[in-house]
Amino acid sequence: MSKIIATAAIRGAHAMVERAEEDLRKAIEKHGKDHPVAYPSTAYYLPIMLLFLGQKVEKLGDLEESMQEARKLLGEIPSDEIWLPYLGETLDSGVATLIAEETIESLKYVNGSDPASGIWLGFTSDNILRLQGIKLVDGRMPGFVAIAGATESNEDAVALIRGFQERNILVFMAGHTGGRAIAEQLAEEDIEMNWDTFLVPYGKEITGAVHALNFAARSAMTFGGIEPGDMEAARQILLYNKERVHAFVMALGSDGVGDDQLITDEKYATAAGAINFGFPVIADVPIPQILPTGICTYEHVISGIKLDEIISRAIELRGLTIKLEKIPIPVPYGAGFEGERVRKENMYVQFGGKYTDAFELLRMKELDEVEDGKIEVVGPEVDDMEEGKAYPLGIVVEVAGRQFELDFESVLERRIHEFISCANGIFHMGQRAIIWVRISKDARAKGFKIKDFGEILVAKIHEEFNKIVDRVQVTVYTDVDEVAKLVEEARAVYSERDDKIAGMTDEDVEDYYSCTLCQSYAPNHVCIVTPQRLGLCGAYTWLDCKASYQIDPHGPNEPVQKGTVIDAEKGSWETVNKYIEVKSNGNLTRFNAYSMMEDPMTSCGCFECIAAIVPEANGILIVDRDFTGMTPVGMTFSTLAGQIGGGIKTPGFIGIGKLYISSAKFISAEGGHARIAWMPKHLKEEVEERLKVRLEADGMLDLFDRIATEEDAEDPDALVEYLTKVNHPVLEMEPMF
Ligand code: SF4
Ligand code: ZN
Repeated sequence: MSKIIATAAIRGAHAMVERAEEDLRKAIEKHGKDHPVAYPSTAYYLPIMLLFLGQKVEKLGDLEESMQEARKLLGEIPSDEIWLPYLGETLDSGVATLIAEETIESLKYVNGSDPASGIWLGFTSDNILRLQGIKLVDGRMPGFVAIAGATESNEDAVALIRGFQERNILVFMAGHTGGRAIAEQLAEEDIEMNWDTFLVPYGKEITGAVHALNFAARSAMTFGGIEPGDMEAARQILLYNKERVHAFVMALGSDGVGDDQLITDEKYATAAGAINFGFPVIADVPIPQILPTGICTYEHVISGIKLDEIISRAIELRGLTIKLEKIPIPVPYGAGFEGERVRKENMYVQFGGKYTDAFELLRMKELDEVEDGKIEVVGPEVDDMEEGKAYPLGIVVEVAGRQFELDFESVLERRIHEFISCANGIFHMGQRAIIWVRISKDARAKGFKIKDFGEILVAKIHEEFNKIVDRVQVTVYTDVDEVAKLVEEARAVYSERDDKIAGMTDEDVEDYYSCTLCQSYAPNHVCIVTPQRLGLCGAYTWLDCKASYQIDPHGPNEPVQKGTVIDAEKGSWETVNKYIEVKSNGNLTRFNAYSMMEDPMTSCGCFECIAAIVPEANGILIVDRDFTGMTPVGMTFSTLAGQIGGGIKTPGFIGIGKLYISSAKFISAEGGHARIAWMPKHLKEEVEERLKVRLEADGMLDLFDRIATEEDAEDPDALVEYLTKVNHPVLEMEPMF
């Protein structure tokens, strides 16, 4: 440990602890010790205290205890002459710093100085954590970087973060140098910053960096299933982060006006906190390096790295495996651009939406009908289009392959959205004949052409589906008459496919499919995917799993024989049970596909919806991720999710995919759809079309209007009252348990 860093970090920790104590003293003076303190929408209290102290902070008074512990961790400030060979004291100061920063940040919510304002986002809710953190543990995002400071020019800032976005690395930002923060530089350059673009500005003060670490701590608790509470748990959470969450801290020493500034004591102290998680620090200014490895898998601190090398050095340092996409188009490409929008002011041209006909269709062909790599544009190119106008668009992809099956068409077609969205400056929404596409002025200026849609699709389909696709060709239509004619043909194909899938039942097939993708963070969880019950994340239907098995027989999906039927109504089969026992590492021996009360499927954490029993109503509610309000069981989605995730079986509560709601097999063991008492309004609207078809087939179409929403009831009493008023059939059903 370099003595200079140790000194600076310990000095910084002292300063941070003093400030937190002062903030706390003022808050208690104003509100009293019993005043509640909490971050919004989390079941993990103040996660840093929970992690390091096993403490569940709920009141300002509790924070006094936290700060006393922080004090104990502070070492004496060494004089610069003293050589400190061990990390220990610095690391402890780092922990004290994080506790102090968690105190300071949480007090902001008490004081009403909302940290989420302007470009800054403040604390990350559990909901977003589940959605995004999963990508870090399952490898879709190779890691995250927490950037503190600013670059010399705005141009440097943009180049740096584009580099991270192209590599799918999540970027957290907090702190400034001499008043300049990189997030502000990006804002000046009109860069969209939010979770969808992988750019998350936490706060201008360095204390905001604690949100990156409380995010990391909660990731381990949520996805690693580690119960916090004692020293051993803390050790495991930190280890989990070191091994699974590939993160690093980037300290930028420039203040954005050209004069290099020194890294402040507080930044050193915060970095020392991050080193506890195994996150190394990389800096662009010459600060003392700490090269020997120990806590981190690699060096703890490397410094003086030039900005244009900093990403590759960071990647080396953290041992990240990065796949840089090589797509021959003139704009950057990567998952970080997937969620970016193109606003009207930045739009060059658009297609579809409510303006014109537009569709995309992928079809299987014979090998000799497809010329691999051929891309053709029928109709005007971008150069012939007028700025601000809307044009028709038809994207027709033809694939051929010896292993390809007709059923895979829709599986591949559904990926077109993701493939196209990942191009910087291109917005894509929807699928089939309801797509809406925009090309930004920037993309146009860089030379993006209609033909590039074809380039993207040819490259990505080859890359991701090389086991089943041998040849791909793409024709992009922008000609009005052609699109008008072809969209009708496409519609006929879609409805044919729907009829086929909708008509498929669990009895029709010999094999179901398993999905063990989520075992990377919920080690005992297995999804059994059947034609009538898709994976609980909503992303894997039986057909998807089948295609995925064909593409990679050693991947996360494999066929599972049903064997003898044990109970058709509950959905249990002999061979499936045996399979589950092996794959859940002996934790489960029985499973009922269509029951939520008796041996239901386990839940990993990425369920689209939760179905929960409402005992007072003798029925159930279904709530989805987007609903942040209170449900009639007195829990929000995130609280419910906290109770049922992690690969355990919780009778009365199941995670489900949205499509399962309209399945004929929907909790048939408990009496099916008649049990549905409540759903958020927007979810009800979303599933309306399919659910009504289902209910009509069962002769109970009138049930739909009897299902309550948050507008009718927010607690069990009001719900029962409503159900009685509308004469909901659930009140007549036999008791649920
Ligand atoms: Fe697979 Fe189930 Fe996880 Fe979805 S929730 S990825 S189906 S294991
Ligand atoms: Zn999952």
